[in-house]
Amino acid sequence: MIKFDILSASYQDTKNEKYDYAVLPWGATEPHNYHLPYLTDCYLAHGISIEAIEKAYRQAKVKGMALPPIPFGSQNPGQTGLPFCLHARYETQKAILSDIVASLYRQGMDKLIIVNGHGGNSFKNMIRDLAVDYPHFLIAVSNWYAIVPQKEYFDIPGDHADEVETSVLMHYHPELVDLSVAGDGTYKPFKANSLCEGVAWTPRDWSKVSVDTGIGNPHYSTAEKGKKYAEAVTDKLAALFIEISKGDIYQS
Ligand SMILES: [Zn+2]
Repeated sequence: MIKFDILSASYQDTKNEKYDYAVLPWGATEPHNYHLPYLTDCYLAHGISIEAIEKAYRQAKVKGMALPPIPFGSQNPGQTGLPFCLHARYETQKAILSDIVASLYRQGMDKLIIVNGHGGNSFKNMIRDLAVDYPHFLIAVSNWYAIVPQKEYFDIPGDHADEVETSVLMHYHPELVDLSVAGDGTYKPFKANSLCEGVAWTPRDWSKVSVDTGIGNPHYSTAEKGKKYAEAVTDKLAALFIEISKGDIYQS
């Protein structure tokens, strides 16, 4: 049986296998309200990646390997001071990504898709830099939570430890979710109207916008909602993986 997850694969599984692409789930280590684990963004990006890789194989026999989820995310003020919240600088994240790309390149791999699960992470400029260094290495990034509109699947989607993240984690790892202790995830938007309207962006100070670190009410979460949403998201990602594996993304 082909292994698609480096967390369980051994060299025995990989030594005679040709993989078409690699997937890098990227999360964070940060508080997620009272009811979800610090590594929520890693578990979700990892779960989504594996399901999509398996689908792509079933549909088109293309083989992908999910790399270990990266737990170092870019954090907002107000989160960074909370216990065990880990903030990784742009330079740190770029160094990690660069070393992963260099490793894969040495091995003859030339396709990598980052499946990002943390809203504070941003990889576009790193990928542009790497495209200069490795012109024939295709690197793409997908924010899994933004692929499919959330409103069609959830009652009140928010944006952190909300009904979306809670439901999808209940689908993949029900043992890690204790909804009975969840806070309401009440969110106070900026007073400055220009910032609410998106005239400019500045990182939100988490201690001023949330009480329990959550943004969005998680109380209507169910594993069933999470399963349906993950199904829709992984359909899209599987199609992406198949197209990227084939390599011809441009018109002639
Ligand atoms: Zn999260």
